[in-house]
Amino acid sequence: MTQQAGNVNAARERALEMDRADPLGPMREAFHLREGLIYLDGNSLGAMPKCAASAVEAALHREWGEDLIESWNKADWIGLPQRAGAKIAALVGAGSDDVVVTDSTSVNLFKVLAAALSLRPDRRVIVSERSNFPTDLYMVEGLMTLLGRDHSLKLVDRAEDIAPAMSEDVAVVMLTHVNYRDGRMLDMADLTERAHAVGALTIWDLAHSAGAVPVALSATNADFAVGCGYKFLNGGPGAPAFCYVAPHLQEDAVQPLSGWFGHRAPFDFTPSFKPATGIARFLTGTPPVLSMTALDKALSVWRDVDMAVVREKSLALSDLFVERVEALTAGGELTLLTPRDHASRGSQISFRHPSAYPVMQALISRGVVGDFRAPDILRFGLTPLYLRYVDVFDAAAILADILSSGIWREDQYNRRARVT
Ligand SMILES: *Cc1c(COP(=O)(O)O)cnc(C)c1O
Repeated sequence: MTQQAGNVNAARERALEMDRADPLGPMREAFHLREGLIYLDGNSLGAMPKCAASAVEAALHREWGEDLIESWNKADWIGLPQRAGAKIAALVGAGSDDVVVTDSTSVNLFKVLAAALSLRPDRRVIVSERSNFPTDLYMVEGLMTLLGRDHSLKLVDRAEDIAPAMSEDVAVVMLTHVNYRDGRMLDMADLTERAHAVGALTIWDLAHSAGAVPVALSATNADFAVGCGYKFLNGGPGAPAFCYVAPHLQEDAVQPLSGWFGHRAPFDFTPSFKPATGIARFLTGTPPVLSMTALDKALSVWRDVDMAVVREKSLALSDLFVERVEALTAGGELTLLTPRDHASRGSQISFRHPSAYPVMQALISRGVVGDFRAPDILRFGLTPLYLRYVDVFDAAAILADILSSGIWREDQYNRRARVT
């Protein structure tokens, strides 16, 4: 064996050693993962918890198939939004009655934005980042058009510009805690405090935070939050999203999608709308029971998981990945986009490469699944519940091999699919 091969073997052995010592190691068994797959896309679609699959089977055959309409009570379908919401609440530092699962993240943004704006009727400005996930900004645009008043969306280009943009005319500061492209994490406590200092309300999008990093909604005094069920929470494709409203705002916060599930007494069938007390007023219509069952069961995987332990492993995985990739590709065209500083990083690593799309396709063909974000980003989600240190070690080696061989130049890797 050459000296170099010996060093690689010793380094890989160290990664295996870290796996053996990993307190979260046994959690991997809870997930269905194809043999040989290195899945670094849990920030786009989390892997399937085995218990979620069996819960959906039971919901199909026993609850829907056998018990039919009775299941609304018998299987407590009616309580699913709150039941699943309480499990998410535990992961994002919220009171168990302050989160509901409902609708999509986009729709929930619309609801909390409208509610927040109506709590600040004399103010017209919404602050956000230009690099925010586009749907967040699109929902603001749509709502502003509908309101037909002179609201304006003030977009800043750098994280440092967020606080200075907060002036006395700002109604709402709407931010995504962990950025979807570069994985940068904002300081929720500090920015919430600054927003409150000028009398503005905050909306936090936790799409890349819930189940990824510790979040403390109550302790940071966040006003509203939304987030995804299908990313780090592993609720399945198109899983419903969640919505948080600080308890002291719930009685005054009114959202415009006043469907019967948000009514105080939906089964009274009265002709006019009276919002439910508490967070239930943020529900709209009948929940998608099969999807919500999958999410609710997927959330049970987190029961004994400490987010501080998840965070520690997430940082160690990402440090190992960056260190290996940089060591193996030094002098090449790959550059790290994610902040190196632990405090400003979520649970993903992004690199820039001028040919990121075909490089990612070539990686996927070798069993390392991440994703591509236009125009030049290779994105790797790190999910401590089911990723091993040896996975990121091997992924780095495969990425380096693809870059040094130039195999990504082949035609087959250069054809764009609809979903990247
Ligand atoms: C993934 C993501 C969304 C997705 O919204 P959907 O309505 O579920 O499609 C929204 N915001 C952010 C920041 C995201 O990362």
